[in-house]
Amino acid sequence: MDFSEGELFKNTIKILESAASLVNCDPNVLERLKRPKRSIIVSVPVRMDDYTVKVFTGYRVQHSSTLGPFKGGFRYHQDVTLSEVAALATLMTFKCSLLNLPLGGGKGGVRVDPTLLSRTEKQNLTRRFTSELGHSIGPSVDIPAPDMGTDPQTMAWIMDTYSQEVGYSQPGVVTGKPVEIGGSLGRAGATGLGVVFTTEKALATQKQQISGTSIVFQGFGNVGQHGALYAHQRGAKVLAVSDVSGGIFDPKGLNIPEVIKYVSENKVVKGFANVEHISNEQLLTLKCDVLAPCAMENVITAENASQIQAKFVIEGANGPCTNDASKILHERGVMVVPDILANGGGVIVSYFEWVQGLQHYFWTEDEVNAKMKLIITGAFDKVWELQQEKKVDMRTAAMGQAVRRLERAMLLRGLYPR
Ligand code: NAD
Repeated sequence: MDFSEGELFKNTIKILESAASLVNCDPNVLERLKRPKRSIIVSVPVRMDDYTVKVFTGYRVQHSSTLGPFKGGFRYHQDVTLSEVAALATLMTFKCSLLNLPLGGGKGGVRVDPTLLSRTEKQNLTRRFTSELGHSIGPSVDIPAPDMGTDPQTMAWIMDTYSQEVGYSQPGVVTGKPVEIGGSLGRAGATGLGVVFTTEKALATQKQQISGTSIVFQGFGNVGQHGALYAHQRGAKVLAVSDVSGGIFDPKGLNIPEVIKYVSENKVVKGFANVEHISNEQLLTLKCDVLAPCAMENVITAENASQIQAKFVIEGANGPCTNDASKILHERGVMVVPDILANGGGVIVSYFEWVQGLQHYFWTEDEVNAKMKLIITGAFDKVWELQQEKKVDMRTAAMGQAVRRLERAMLLRGLYPR
């Protein structure tokens, strides 16, 4: 499949085109932004535990380096395609631009079901994939991070492999590393905390505060658990949370530290006592002020968008609302804070991790959180300003601001050779 053939890529280009027209983007710039700068496809031979060799396909798409080195996750999943990776790389360019980071957009992945790999096989795969990419990644070139199916341990193996090959320790080649080898304090909770900061900003546009507000979280993994905890600590009433096993609901508000403790012991929320058990579909349409979908893509669609009762939808996950659903919600007066803004806390703290690693000087968690808040709330203000000026939805405004910064940078740099 060509990079441009997948649905996600086509949808990404549609959003880019409407944002470009909103800000009167130079047509030559738009033409360049519609295509990734470079797509790398590698074969990754892996010694399996039974001593056979399996060959997997790995991808790295580098969309734009106008603003700095490429930045974006590595995904291990059986459905990974070149086109999906290209779409996600493109979105990373706009996310980094919107958040004013000196980084471009990239994404990578291996087409493999990671649940079928032993730890040794996953390590072999990761090390060989890193080696096949060679100098296409590096602290000044392209800096991967964890995504679906990869984690801090995977990043540690990448960092070690790359360091072995260049001959000295290079922590700046990846972010999302364990803290012991150069990870940043605050990275684990960063995306959830960013979701709460953007929720507070969205509420403030309607003169509301998070304390006393009712919030529902779909997804109780990294983003959902941290988001729910930080909201709970700020006095919000977290009415319901859910995961792959279903949802739990308490009209008086859940005791989130207790739910987190239960999930750490039982893996899922199913079975948590003294609450009402509901389905994921029911959870999305609960009466509440804020709905934060923090699990997966395409959960709010044209079918259920008219039943959403929340006044704010904060996209903690990537792509939880389809384009049609976003339109319906906007027409109904529901504010959707788009993923490239709402879940930007993660990439901001990844940027901090990279900076700290390059300087060999590490910050406290309070410093990290305070600096992240400045960036994400500043980006919210820019999006809100354009949204108010042009009366468009928040996603188009966010993409519009991202396109503006890229356009200025591309015109200043010019086109080589001429
Ligand atoms: P995770 O794997 O830690 O958690 C995912 C959660 O979603 C789990 O609770 C899982 O049970 C639940 N889930 C899975 N399938 C579900 C289903 N069908 N219905 C309901 N719940 C389901 O993942 P995460 O890191 O929390 O990421 C969640 C989303 O946020 C993803 O879209 C990811 O791309 C996005 N995101 C994450 C980060 C980050 O820093 N972790 C940063 C930016 C964006």
